[in-house]
Amino acid sequence: MSSLVIADVTMVDVCEGRLAPSVDIWVAGERIDAVVRAGERSHDGARVLSGAGLTALPGLINLHVHLCLDSSADPRSALVGDTREGLLLKMVEHAALTLSGGITTVRDLGCPGDLIFALRESVEAGRVPGPRIVACGEVITRTGGHGSGWLGREVDGEAAVRRAVRHQLKRGADGIKIMLTGGVLTPGTSSHHVGFSRGELVAAVEEARRENVLIAAHAQGAAGVETCIDVGIDTVEHGTYMDARWAEAMVEQGMTWVPTLSPHRCAGRARQEGKLPPLAETSPLRSTRRKENYPRSLTPEALGRFASFGKTEGLCVGVGSDAGVTFTPHFDLVTEMEMFVESGFEVSQVLHMATLGNAEILNLDGSVGSIEEGKYADLLLVSGNPLDDLSTLRELVTVIKGGEVVHRGQLGNRCGVRHRG
Ligand SMILES: [Zn+2]
Repeated sequence: MSSLVIADVTMVDVCEGRLAPSVDIWVAGERIDAVVRAGERSHDGARVLSGAGLTALPGLINLHVHLCLDSSADPRSALVGDTREGLLLKMVEHAALTLSGGITTVRDLGCPGDLIFALRESVEAGRVPGPRIVACGEVITRTGGHGSGWLGREVDGEAAVRRAVRHQLKRGADGIKIMLTGGVLTPGTSSHHVGFSRGELVAAVEEARRENVLIAAHAQGAAGVETCIDVGIDTVEHGTYMDARWAEAMVEQGMTWVPTLSPHRCAGRARQEGKLPPLAETSPLRSTRRKENYPRSLTPEALGRFASFGKTEGLCVGVGSDAGVTFTPHFDLVTEMEMFVESGFEVSQVLHMATLGNAEILNLDGSVGSIEEGKYADLLLVSGNPLDDLSTLRELVTVIKGGEVVHRGQLGNRCGVRHRG
């Protein structure tokens, strides 16, 4: 097995939230073999990548992406207007973009057909570059619900929902995504109404539990979050109208909140710059429901509110950007992380959340999320100290996944690979 050593590098210890200076990170094949004091072991026979002047941290994990969406002004229309073949090729591009941003693991929460499973397998086999993919495949939605006709399958009634969950798992899903409320990208749906009956949702949760997989729910409005708590959803996606009561109830039930802040800023900026028209009323008949939808951009007050609920003692908060939706790029998890910091989290907390914390949520902390012996060698090299300044993550020197250099940033030529022996 070939050995690689990232020599004399400063390492971010995400558990302790501090730097470990001058270490050698030894990689054997795909995995981390050891982290030792620089020079403690002879480098003879190993491939040496100089880490002098650089900082190593674990690869980032994005807990909420859609590799099928193209981050354009209207990603739904782009998807609907494409062929399957065209879409799959775009997904290959989005997977490579994801890696270029230092994101080495993603959870994909909605993609038509079996495309995401095909991509996941191709990445695993090393045929195309991309992050490790935890995939739910098609979302489960009700007739006319959010995602129907583009991201998922329409099902109605308890038996059909049960069958849909089983069918998704049979197709290869690693988890389940259900659309509790409407969403911004599906015209005519309301973010404030729960589209499924309680019985349908309980059936979905039961089936996911039976197979020991996580069930995620798209829930924007207050009623959606309340229902997630009632039926025992594992991860609440968006939860835009979170409040303190619910945050506490979620702690009690060990639930996770993935607030997906990025689209507010990314689409908000684009709208300010005139790149995006104001959200149109899509149907005059639905306009009364439409008006009460979702805030169009996250105000500083709303961001502060987020932090106060997000920092509720013991509440598990995941870092996910909803990459692929309107103007929200696949390579960027840093905006999401910066928004966490702006709303009051410590940088060290956010680095932990976007790596080991997210890995724990996915039950993958045995294999990714930190630079530790036995885990996959998924790591990033940056110049500067990310614990001081997250924007260092916007200029990655090198991205390594499974022990292989998969991306070099503009500064990448600083990092010479030398062969020995
Ligand atoms: Zn989403």
